[in-house]
Amino acid sequence: MIDKYLKVLKEIGIDEVFMETANHESMDKVKLLEELGKEIQECKKCDLYKHRKQAVLGEGNPNAKLMFVGEAPGADEDRLGRPFVGRAGQLLTKLIEATGHKREEFYITNVNKCRPPGNRTPTPWEQEACFPFLERQIEIINPKILCLLGAAAARAFLKRPVSITKERGEVLNWNGKKLILTLHPAYILRNPSAEELLFEDIKKAIDLALSD
Ligand code: SF4
Repeated sequence: MIDKYLKVLKEIGIDEVFMETANHESMDKVKLLEELGKEIQECKKCDLYKHRKQAVLGEGNPNAKLMFVGEAPGADEDRLGRPFVGRAGQLLTKLIEATGHKREEFYITNVNKCRPPGNRTPTPWEQEACFPFLERQIEIINPKILCLLGAAAARAFLKRPVSITKERGEVLNWNGKKLILTLHPAYILRNPSAEELLFEDIKKAIDLALSD
């Protein structure tokens, strides 16, 4: 049984160090995440299901203290079934590594699990339809910090429009967790001079998550 879960862990990008130290609680989390993953593949709660190749649950350490949450999968993510693997994802990975950490230490997901056509921003209704899946992921993983990438992800949590360039870097309380608002890596691809700001927020999120 354990071997089966270790195989799943490897498939969803968890490194061998974690696998060697995985315990039964971790295995339960992997199983719950696996079940959630199956549910979203069948989900038709909003019209985004019509455009997906596959729904994308997320990946990473099921015991992560920090969860990165973006807007929705893009074309590469929809094709590969993994979050943040396109150009924006590569930038996110690079900035995490620049802090001295590995992407696999954390958990990465999106508010919406299906790709909106043409990568448009999900509507508030589409966000609302998908949010219970994210809430269940948060409940299973139980991170200390949620780092929200971009205005759309922040809007889904705060239920109000967010000016991310003005509000980035803020730490807010949400259901007993801390939210850190920051720019979406895709914004940095269009505005490279803002990369330092995203790095600053990612570092703050990691430092807060790993502090006692
Ligand atoms: S985006 Fe979410 S709510 Fe909409 S179909 Fe996909 S999994 Fe279901």
